[in-house]
Amino acid sequence: MNFLKRFFGKTVKEEKEDSDAFKISFPKFNYELEFLEALEKTPIHKLLGYNPYWEPRFKELLGELNPILDKFLTQGLIEISLKEEVLKVPELKKILKENNLPQTGNKEILAKRVFDEVEDKSYDIHLIPFYKLTPKGKEGIKNYRDEFLKQSLNFLKHQAELLLENNLSVLESNHFHIRGQHPDQRSLSGIMNSFGERSNLVLKKLSQNEPFRIQCKFPIEFEKKLRVLIGFREMIIPFFEEFKNEYLKDIDLNEIYSILKTNPEILDFGDKDDFLKTLIHFEHLHFWNQAKLEEILEFKRRHSDSKFEGIQILNSGCKCHEEFGEEKYTWDQLDHLPTLPRFTKCICIYNLM
Ligand SMILES: [Zn+2]
Repeated sequence: MNFLKRFFGKTVKEEKEDSDAFKISFPKFNYELEFLEALEKTPIHKLLGYNPYWEPRFKELLGELNPILDKFLTQGLIEISLKEEVLKVPELKKILKENNLPQTGNKEILAKRVFDEVEDKSYDIHLIPFYKLTPKGKEGIKNYRDEFLKQSLNFLKHQAELLLENNLSVLESNHFHIRGQHPDQRSLSGIMNSFGERSNLVLKKLSQNEPFRIQCKFPIEFEKKLRVLIGFREMIIPFFEEFKNEYLKDIDLNEIYSILKTNPEILDFGDKDDFLKTLIHFEHLHFWNQAKLEEILEFKRRHSDSKFEGIQILNSGCKCHEEFGEEKYTWDQLDHLPTLPRFTKCICIYNLM
């Protein structure tokens, strides 16, 4: 943290304002360090050529990137490294001398000078400089990531508590608080799903203990946590893995797996290492469909004169399409509507027809 403070210095006042407004806050992205990490992942292979995938995004967030690279260099977070260089020191010096440029500095400095200042660009082909993180830069990234993860896990645990307490209004306002804090998160890590009306309905169903689709008797502690994990899938997908591991560390997943094996429908949840993901997907789709169904029925109730004839099941993409073909249910056939999903890989959804 000292590193971050020194480098990007958040004032005490800002921190105080944050903590006054929200007891537990989601960490803020540090876009400069995100940029530094992007350099680590996809090094810039020429001094003037950025990665076309993220360059426009970081320019949008940070403005011109060259001054930031200079700052990173000055602070010793990155260094210019020369890859596959063909020119040796005496040759570099000779070129500099011919161009009336200083011949001081180590090989990388000499090469950079040739690259930057010599007018004859035919030398560039022999110099492939790229920015490389120094150990200090790598440590900075690691500290940032560790701290970010720690803070986000705390935040998510807090959110999980709110879901269990059925305190959806605070959960929602926290969620929107994060979204407000991170208007730029798209394409950095795409953190948030919306907390729209359907999400709200899904969370409500989860927090009000509406039954799972699977008929198994899980230990109550696991049931609670499963509800939270489904809720988090609805809201925040990319942090899911870390959060899940931390959150389930007191649960005996072997036991859960053997209970799951006894489900009366003999649904296949995959192998022991992987079943949880499938279970959460399956139950999430169930709650999502229940919410959608409720929305549709509510719509029907309010618009009795609408031209919709009933509910259809959209089933392109899972084996239900072959098995059941087109599935349409008029309003007086709703008793026959199957419960979704029908099997673990089913991705069918209800829709107005
Ligand atoms: Zn299906």
